[in-house]
Amino acid sequence: MNETDLDELISSLTPHESADSVKTYRNTVSISCPACEDPFDDLVVCSGEYDSLELSKVLDLCVTTVDDDVLLFTHQH
Ligand SMILES: [Zn+2]
Repeated sequence: MNETDLDELISSLTPHESADSVKTYRNTVSISCPACEDPFDDLVVCSGEYDSLELSKVLDLCVTTVDDDVLLFTHQH
C-alpha cells in the first residue's frame, strides 16, 4: 500500500484512539481489508520504531506496511 492509498482509506474511517505512535480507526462503513478482502473492524497504524499493543480480545490480524508505518487490520469472530 502507498501513502495515497492510506490517506484515502483513513478519510473513510472514524478515528477512535490515538496514543503516542499508535492510532486506531474504526471501520464503520465495512470497507474491505486490502489483504483478505473481508471487511475489517479496526485499522491500527503503528508509526513508532517499536510499538506494543495490548489486545483485549482474540483477533485475527492482517498486516501491511506504508513506508515505515505498520498497518494492522483487525478481524473479530
Ligand atoms: Zn484481513
